[in-house]
Amino acid sequence: MRILIVEDEESLALRIKSVLESENYHVEVAFDGDDGVEKALTEEYDLLILDILLPKLDGISVLKALRKEHIRLPVLLLTAKSLIEDKVHGLDAGADDYLTKPFAIPELLARVRSLLRRTSETKTSVLTIADLEINTSTHEVKRRGVPVNLTPKEYAILEFLLYNKNRVVSRLSIAEHVWGDNFDLYTMTNFVDVHIKNLRKKIDDQDERKLIQTLHGVGYLIKEQE
Ligand code: CA
Repeated sequence: MRILIVEDEESLALRIKSVLESENYHVEVAFDGDDGVEKALTEEYDLLILDILLPKLDGISVLKALRKEHIRLPVLLLTAKSLIEDKVHGLDAGADDYLTKPFAIPELLARVRSLLRRTSETKTSVLTIADLEINTSTHEVKRRGVPVNLTPKEYAILEFLLYNKNRVVSRLSIAEHVWGDNFDLYTMTNFVDVHIKNLRKKIDDQDERKLIQTLHGVGYLIKEQE
C-alpha cells in the first residue's frame, strides 16, 4: 500500500511517515501543495493524507486539482482549524475523511486503515490466501473448501490479517482494530493472543501449511509458506 503525505510541518510529516512505515506502508512526502499535486498525478498511491494550510497551493485546491484530473484515491484531510466550514469545504471538494490537529497517532492509523479497507471492499468481497478464503460480505470462511465457524472477534482478526496479508501487524493495532481505542489496549493485546490461539486451532491445526505466523515481540502476520 502506497501513501502520499502532503504536509509542510516537517517534523509532523516525518513522524507520520515513520509511524506508517513501521506499519509496513510505503510512504512518500511532499512539503507543499504544488509538489503534492505533481507527485499524485505522476505516481499511483492508495491513499493521500493532505494538510489544508500549505505553501504554494492549499489543500482544498490540491484536492480539487486531483479530482478534476479524475484521480479517485481516498483522501484524509488534516486541519489545524476545527472550523466547521473547513470540514464542509473539504468534504465538498471530495475528501473522504478528516482529522483535526492535534491528533493521536492511533487515531490517524485507524482512519488510514478504515479508508484503505473501504477501497479494497469496493474492489472485491472475497479475500484469499493459499487455500483459505473469506467473504467480507457474508463473513463466510473456508479452508480447502470446508466451512470454518469463527466467532465475530476471530473473524474480525482474521479479516484484518488478510487485509494486511504478508505484512506484520502489531498486537496493538489488531486490538485497536477489533475493540476500538475505547478500551484498555494493554489488556486487549492479551485478548488478541487468546483469540489468535483459538483462530489457529480452527484454521491451521489440521493443516500442514500454517498460515498464521508469530513474530515474537512484534506481532502477527498471515503468509503463505514457500
Ligand atoms: Ca500546514
